[in-house]
Amino acid sequence: MCLFCKIANKEIPSKVVLEDEHVLAFHDVNPQAPTHVLVIPKRHIAGIGQATPEDEAALGRLLLAARRVAELAGIAESGFRTVINSGANAGQTVFHLHVHVLGGRAMAWPPG
Ligand code: 5GP
Ligand code: ZN
Repeated sequence: MCLFCKIANKEIPSKVVLEDEHVLAFHDVNPQAPTHVLVIPKRHIAGIGQATPEDEAALGRLLLAARRVAELAGIAESGFRTVINSGANAGQTVFHLHVHVLGGRAMAWPPG
C-alpha cells in the first residue's frame, strides 16, 4: 500500500485539517509556506497523468476541498496556490494524487 493510502487509512498519523467520505486534507510534513496542506482522494489514483473519466467526480471534490482548506486556514482572502506535481520533471515524489494548498506568504511566478 502506498504512503498516502496508509495516511488515508490512519496507519500512518497525520495532522488532519479536513476529512469526509472521499477526501482527506493534512499538513505537509515539510511545509514550504506558513500554510501547506495536502488534499488527497481516499481512493488511490497515482497522479493526474493517470486519471481517467471515472475520476471526474474525485477530481472535482479535490479542488472543492482545497477551497475549503483555504477558508479554514484563513488564506482564502489573502490568496493561495494549488499545485499538482505530475511526473519526474514536475518533482512528483509521492505517487498518490495530491493537491498542495500553499499560502500565508507572497509567492513568485513562474515557479522554479
Ligand atoms: P510531491 O513532491 O509528490 O508533489 O509532494 C509530496 C509531498 O508529500 C511533499 O511536500 C512532502 O513533504 C510530503 N510528504 C512526504 N511524506 C509525508 C508524510 O509521511 N507525511 C506528510 N504529512 N507529508 C509527507
Ligand atoms: Zn495510494
